[in-house]
Amino acid sequence: MNKEVDVIIVGAGPGGCSAAIGLARRGYDVLLLEKERFPRGKVCGDGISPPALETLDRLGILPPVLEKNPWKIEGLTMSSPNGKAVKAFFSHLKGPYAFGLVMPRREFDSLVLHQARKYSNIEILENWEVKDFIEQNGWVEGVKAQSGSQKEEFLSKFLVGADGAYSVVARKTFSRENKIQQGAFGLRAYFQGVKGLTHQIEIHCGRSILPGYGWVFPTGEDSANVGVGIASRHLKEKNIRNLFQAFVKENPFVKERLLEARMVENSLQGGPIPLGSFFRRRSRKNVLLVGDAAGFTDALSGEGIYFALRSGECAAEAIQSALSSPGGAEKVGRIYEGLWRSALPSREFLFGAFVHRLIVREFFLNRNITRALKKPSMARDLASILCHQKAKMGLLF
Ligand SMILES: Cc1cc2nc3c(=O)[nH]c(=O)nc-3n(C[C@H](O)[C@H](O)[C@H](O)COP(=O)(O)OP(=O)(O)OC[C@H]3O[C@@H](n4cnc5c(N)ncnc54)[C@H](O)[C@@H]3O)c2cc1C
Repeated sequence: MNKEVDVIIVGAGPGGCSAAIGLARRGYDVLLLEKERFPRGKVCGDGISPPALETLDRLGILPPVLEKNPWKIEGLTMSSPNGKAVKAFFSHLKGPYAFGLVMPRREFDSLVLHQARKYSNIEILENWEVKDFIEQNGWVEGVKAQSGSQKEEFLSKFLVGADGAYSVVARKTFSRENKIQQGAFGLRAYFQGVKGLTHQIEIHCGRSILPGYGWVFPTGEDSANVGVGIASRHLKEKNIRNLFQAFVKENPFVKERLLEARMVENSLQGGPIPLGSFFRRRSRKNVLLVGDAAGFTDALSGEGIYFALRSGECAAEAIQSALSSPGGAEKVGRIYEGLWRSALPSREFLFGAFVHRLIVREFFLNRNITRALKKPSMARDLASILCHQKAKMGLLF
């Protein structure tokens, strides 16, 4: 049995590292347990949005990321089933960052973890998988972890579950009723030799893959992350690999440009995108969930990096508030629920999935893209909606 630390964080992705850095800066001792050894890949579109950049900057991670010269994104191109496409630019967005980035997660996540390594009060144990929990009257006092054949118990005052979509923390320490009910699934591959790439990310809603959609996120001048995503409830009737093939081979905006491109070997991989509801609790006693473990992703775009970073910051702030008031440990959950609801576009969790069901339909897609082509303010709204500065409901009227 090891000495007790202030906080154990399970998972060293963007959510876990953000929470760890936030806590370390406030002077707390953190143990960060990660089951993989970095650099490790993570299935993703690799798009880092303007709001995510603001959070990365606060955490001190943006300068090393920019130093690597990742592909800069100035806006998005979106196409509709009737073959029209509109461009929307980030230049008018509020806030300091009017651009996004695309950076493969293998590289990005390593830079994020590298930043956490700079703090002497964060102990990082890679290749340690958390398997179970030590509980006393419903409070989690520690975790049981394993590395190869070695087993160890670690103790802490608080536990942060940042262990992604298949979170063992959410599964084992939260009740069944609180589980993530809805979600999406995505499949992506890296391509080299792609023609016609720009500094725009592309989202294509072609007829043959509806109600799914496809994306082309450039990672360089002629390389891209290409993928498709669809709400999980459609996976029984739609085969995701077939959707991917249809997108790559049939989409009128994509097929010619990929004709001579080469898919990077073994890069075709899929992963879940958990969508949480507004009502779901992300805390129980002294346990807080962040990022995918909490179901914090955008229902429309599947974006989750920003939500993971931001919810990690909220978890650190909640733990500080709890520890600095007498008997505060009891209140940590309530404090965290309040913080994430005001920091994140939480109302979007209420309506996002509903709006998504409606708008990823031929009628709305055709109507919205046609309107945005005629009215520049609507194209601007599209970029604002994607960056959480305007409500998605606007797409329905
Ligand atoms: C196909 C696809 C495309 C996407 N595209 C985008 C995009 O373009 N932009 C965007 O912003 N988001 C995108 N997302 C969402 C984004 O990938 C996630 O929301 C984001 O990675 C969440 O970060 P996280 O830190 O919560 O979890 P993760 O990044 O999943 O990190 C969790 C970490 O926990 C570790 N772990 C898991 N279990 C244990 C355990 N028991 N013990 C110890 N460690 C453990 C894992 O190894 C991992 O390192 C996409 C997702 C998918 C599937």
